[in-house]
Amino acid sequence: MRRRGFLGFSAALGATLATRSASLIAATPNAGRVVIVGGGWGGLSAASHLRRLAPQLEVTLVERNAAFQSLPLSNQWLAGRVDDALINHDYARAARAWGYRFIRAEVRDIDRAKRRVASAEFSLDYDWLVLSPGIRYDWAAWFGDDSRAIEQARHNYPCAFVAGDELAALKKKLDAFAGGDLLMTIPPMPYRCPPAPYERALVIGQYLNARRIKGRLIVLDPNPMMAAFSRVFADQYAEQIAYVPHAAVKAVDPFARTISTSFDDYRFDDAILMAPQRAGELARRAGVVGDDGWARVDPLRFHVPGDDRVFVIGDAVGKVSVLFGHYPKSGHMAARQGRVVAGEIAARAAGRVPQVQLPDSTCHVLTRLDPPEAMRLDAGYRVRGDGEIAQAVQQSHDPNPRGEDVAWARGMFAELLAYPLQ
Ligand SMILES: Cc1cc2nc3c(=O)[nH]c(=O)nc-3n(C[C@H](O)[C@H](O)[C@H](O)COP(=O)(O)OP(=O)(O)OC[C@H]3O[C@@H](n4cnc5c(N)ncnc54)[C@H](O)[C@@H]3O)c2cc1C
Repeated sequence: MRRRGFLGFSAALGATLATRSASLIAATPNAGRVVIVGGGWGGLSAASHLRRLAPQLEVTLVERNAAFQSLPLSNQWLAGRVDDALINHDYARAARAWGYRFIRAEVRDIDRAKRRVASAEFSLDYDWLVLSPGIRYDWAAWFGDDSRAIEQARHNYPCAFVAGDELAALKKKLDAFAGGDLLMTIPPMPYRCPPAPYERALVIGQYLNARRIKGRLIVLDPNPMMAAFSRVFADQYAEQIAYVPHAAVKAVDPFARTISTSFDDYRFDDAILMAPQRAGELARRAGVVGDDGWARVDPLRFHVPGDDRVFVIGDAVGKVSVLFGHYPKSGHMAARQGRVVAGEIAARAAGRVPQVQLPDSTCHVLTRLDPPEAMRLDAGYRVRGDGEIAQAVQQSHDPNPRGEDVAWARGMFAELLAYPLQ
């Protein structure tokens, strides 16, 4: 580690650095340094699997947030169906349990020629770098470089599709909503967790209904609707949810509170604005983003083309197949990619040629709240004879879910955060 401002850095270090346990520090420290930036589903998985697969490597996880916040189950948290303990988790505890180093910092620069990442206070050298920066909102698609409009939309109309303060702000917004038109835009595909906005709409429909609020949620959807939700929207929330298909957003005025689509104009009293999404800013800083705004990676091994020291995983990853385009942008998928990349690095560090492993994805989503019904989406992958990755998706309807979504999350937290399985 190189120091820029020793005092600033040591203060940050004292507050946020969890060092490896004594027995693990005794392992060969010079076998190789892995730096992982982004402590979401992909980064936490890469860190924990590296400790299991290659304990001789020095692993450092750098994350800007103080705590890990799970977006899976966050709609249920908004609905008051799960408590905080399932949503917010301690990074330092996970780092101690797995035996890696955790640094709370925002990485600003990546110098791939020197193999170095830097925050405002320090820089870290790496032998292998794993980036799992998630997504960013592409406000420029709506507002160009109008920073006032961007700030107005970001501050007043959060959608909580990125971990951090937005989820609490959204809850506050819903608690304060007294009536009128609440408008929600769904981003154009690809975006993270495609069923999540529909599940969110159900939560809000139920909320308006239960509190007898004279208001409606207008959902503007530019994508084909997910069929599993249409029946419930129409049967249960006809008065609370106005669903508008083929509604590609053309213009947004966050001051006048208006939105135009190709067909109509809308005025809103309040809004949840889901802007188009792209790979997290860090991927751009690493110089790995293509013209479509997503990270270019080797589809089988996740390293950056031409740089097998740098991997990008998770929702930031761009097209991997001509057959289906992007991998599903799910936490499960990001975690599986973290495991794949840990295997790649472990093998390369040991001088072995890594075997190709393909990820998989599972997603549980509520399609009805009362009485609860759920849908499970499973995606599996294989390499076809011509080298393309093929996808098989299975969708199953569960008319009587018994907490499978929470059980799934607990299983993932055990894997990522070293919790005992309950
Ligand atoms: C409402 C909702 C419900 C969802 N439900 C499910 C579900 O049921 N099942 C499921 O599998 N998935 C679900 N998802 C999707 C899931 O949350 C994402 O797919 C997952 O978070 C992707 O993981 P990631 O590692 O790519 O990104 P993230 O989890 O977003 O992690 C990225 C991390 O990088 C950090 N970071 C970024 N830049 C920097 C930087 N410069 N320096 C330091 N740190 C940085 C961020 O702070 C963040 O912690 C849901 C998403 C939403 C919004």
